[in-house]
Amino acid sequence: MTRPTRALLKWDNLRHNYRKAREATRHEAYAVIKSDGYGHGMLACANALSGEADGFAVACVDEALTLRQAGIRQPILVLEGAYDPEEWTLASKYHLQLAVHHPQQLKDKAEADLSDEVAVWLKVSSGMNRLGVKLEDAPEMMARIRNDNDLILRHVMSHFATSDEADTGFYQQQIATMTEHAWPVPLSLSNSASVIRGGIEQERVLRPGIMLYGSSPCEDISAAEAGLKPVMTLQSALISTHTVKAGETVGYGCAWTAPRDSRIGVVAIGYGDGYPRHASSGTPVNVAGQRCELVGRVSMDMITVDVTDVPEAVIGSPVELWGELVSIDEVAGLANTISYELFCRLTKRVPRVNLQ
Ligand SMILES: *Cc1c(COP(=O)(O)O)cnc(C)c1O
Repeated sequence: MTRPTRALLKWDNLRHNYRKAREATRHEAYAVIKSDGYGHGMLACANALSGEADGFAVACVDEALTLRQAGIRQPILVLEGAYDPEEWTLASKYHLQLAVHHPQQLKDKAEADLSDEVAVWLKVSSGMNRLGVKLEDAPEMMARIRNDNDLILRHVMSHFATSDEADTGFYQQQIATMTEHAWPVPLSLSNSASVIRGGIEQERVLRPGIMLYGSSPCEDISAAEAGLKPVMTLQSALISTHTVKAGETVGYGCAWTAPRDSRIGVVAIGYGDGYPRHASSGTPVNVAGQRCELVGRVSMDMITVDVTDVPEAVIGSPVELWGELVSIDEVAGLANTISYELFCRLTKRVPRVNLQ
């Protein structure tokens, strides 16, 4: 018997979600698999999508090289571009596409030892104000890239700051900023939230990330409403049950007081596995097919759940923390974070089990 905690991964659902992203608009879609495929395994994601993804997007050249070294041959976009001249050299050798977001990157390129042309995406800031050249500097940057025989300007891209919010005012403003301009190459704008909102007619390449894993970033549209299916199911089992009397407390800090005589189930999962320590009492946990509530504080290796109304819950009963029965977006909300962080913080201790 091993610890019952594991993450099941359904790669069919990744493909389903990728198709959802594409069918919404018929644009090309670069599947964003940075940060180890949002915790799902970057290579496993790339392999699952290798038959259909138009390309992949990762954060840095290191991630892109990992894909190339594993034999992934699709186009790969590096969202942060090259950090120094050596990365330009690698990008040219391994045919990586680079975002260019700062003039320093073009200076670095001049010092690189390029074996081939490099395709670049000019990153323009339209309101996010993190990476990207200012709109007024874009024409000059574009001219420099287009006049450089080492470079091919493939796309102009921009990123949204508020596309997840129900109030779409700032989002619409960013779309207008980008689409009112006449660009000489096709645009790439949409992240998942924007794809779920219907995409943008004037663009050609989508960059869906979180939606591929079956979570909706939109505060007003659920994953189920968007037709997405969870790739990951985080599951465990009960390792103990016991009863407490009304008025007794459970766990560290005596943070939860039983309002009635209660039966408590102890689940073999905690923040040492990546279950969020800040999940509040009341966070849904599915035990033996029934929706129950987390009670008391999350420990490193265990959580406690109120199973008073689930008499069939016994030691060994299956537990789902998130997946098909419990929405990760709901768990994230009750832990004051987002699904992205929960996925990325799943720890090494949790074995990944590949399903179809
Ligand atoms: C991470 C990222 C995406 C994907 O965002 P999601 O919200 O996960 O869909 C798209 N574009 C850029 C520039 C990113 O950094």
